[in-house]
Amino acid sequence: MVQQAASHVTKKGLYINGAWVQEENQEFHESLNPATEQVVGYYAAATSAQVDHAVESAKSAFKLWKNTTLPERAQFLWRAAQVFEEKKEHLAQTMTKEMGKVLAESLGEVGVVVETCKYMAGEGRRLFGETVSSGASNRQIMMVREPIGVVACITPWNFPVALAGYKILAALISGNTVVWKPASEVALSAQIFTEVFHEIGLPKGVLNLVTGAGSKVGAQLAEHKDVKVISFTGSTEVGIKLSETAAKTLKRVSLELGGKNAVIVLKDANLDLAAEAIVKAAFTTTGQRCTAASRVIVERDVKDELLQRVVAITKNLKVGNGLQSGVDIGPLINKHQLETVEKYVAIAVQEGAVIECGGKRLLSEQGYFYEPTVLSNVKKGDAVAQEEIFGPVLAFIEVDHFEEAVEVNNDTVYGLSTSLFTNSLHYANRGAKEIESGLVYINNGTSNAELGVAFGGTKHSGNGHREVSHHAFDVMTEWKSIYTTY
Ligand code: NAD
Repeated sequence: MVQQAASHVTKKGLYINGAWVQEENQEFHESLNPATEQVVGYYAAATSAQVDHAVESAKSAFKLWKNTTLPERAQFLWRAAQVFEEKKEHLAQTMTKEMGKVLAESLGEVGVVVETCKYMAGEGRRLFGETVSSGASNRQIMMVREPIGVVACITPWNFPVALAGYKILAALISGNTVVWKPASEVALSAQIFTEVFHEIGLPKGVLNLVTGAGSKVGAQLAEHKDVKVISFTGSTEVGIKLSETAAKTLKRVSLELGGKNAVIVLKDANLDLAAEAIVKAAFTTTGQRCTAASRVIVERDVKDELLQRVVAITKNLKVGNGLQSGVDIGPLINKHQLETVEKYVAIAVQEGAVIECGGKRLLSEQGYFYEPTVLSNVKKGDAVAQEEIFGPVLAFIEVDHFEEAVEVNNDTVYGLSTSLFTNSLHYANRGAKEIESGLVYINNGTSNAELGVAFGGTKHSGNGHREVSHHAFDVMTEWKSIYTTY
């Protein structure tokens, strides 16, 4: 049952040209807590005219912002880091209420934003150019990176602020201006993020926030002639659609998409280490991470031993409201996602899988809770082994040897993250070379990204761009080559 929010919950509107704005008849939608099904707050559905206004504001602010010196731009990011630190608890609580991840994870995520502000503030000083020896004796050639213009950042709900931080901060330090369209499920967290930049006095129009349906607001940004770059994280399906639309105006498009990540465990591996890492990678954020492990590809000789360990640790996980202490796993984001998980587990069983633990909703709880689920006897072509579920479901697939493990790993359309557990130098190095993923971890879980390291996927997990590190500048800047004859 959905209950109404207290009447004091404010309706904040959109952030355009340095101010919170709303029309007289602005349409607002409820934001629900997936753990309680209660209303947390409201977000505005931007009209087409408001989206245009946000883009115009960003376009006009670009003239000033691109000529603001890099150290000055960096100063804004240093100040933002401080204010994010001050708002950490409030922002983390809001994130947990809006999308369900446990509070410790939300606090950690705000910490990532703080660090990204500092990282980008420093890394911006190294937006280096190049000089090239000319073929003419009286000619000097240099290449410089220039900002591109209005960047539309479109983000998903599973990391409400960290993913936005990766994109927005890279765009801003490079001298671009931003229109941000967050996922509707986490619009309140996006408001707090934006408020930080209002408080530090970022010049008006440099960062704008528009909320509303992706199919309307996001699609309009993809079509808009004055948006020059789209930086998108979300599903492969929407990423492809966006690329098609953006091609008509020749926008640069950076896509971080879905995954079907695997942990390969060879028979010489440390099974205790592997089991701990597998459970963490599979069930943290209720399996709703692009890098979540959803397949274990294990050498037959050690399958029973590994499965036993994984099931034992999984059964100890406590599912519940992420605001309560002692809870390991929160709810799924919404009813639709809960039903998707149920559907996939039913299909898996039809295809011959065995449920080793979990496999059902937590009916005693209000909210969208599903037990962390381990399936065995899954075959490489089964639906649960091929399609991204985005929930707490882990499928065990048995193989005879390393070569077959790599073949099974590579046999999906995705290529985001793969782990390999082995003590063999030979197989560790071969794995690093033969695994088709943008991220490869040896003796680590699949979800271990660090700041400063290029992040992104191959195949249908992306379109070749990378973020999180200075490689984000390849998306956010354009080269200009200057020939000077003297
Ligand atoms: P989604 O694709 O449904 O939505 C992502 C964003 O796109 C949202 O803001 C949404 O409103 C917007 N959108 C939806 N339709 C649109 C359209 N037609 N035009 C423009 N924008 C549109 O994804 P989601 O459900 O929010 O997130 C889950 C997905 O994100 C999973 O597939 C997951 O793997 C992926 N993801 C990838 C990464 C990565 O770095 N590779 C990280 C996190 C999540």
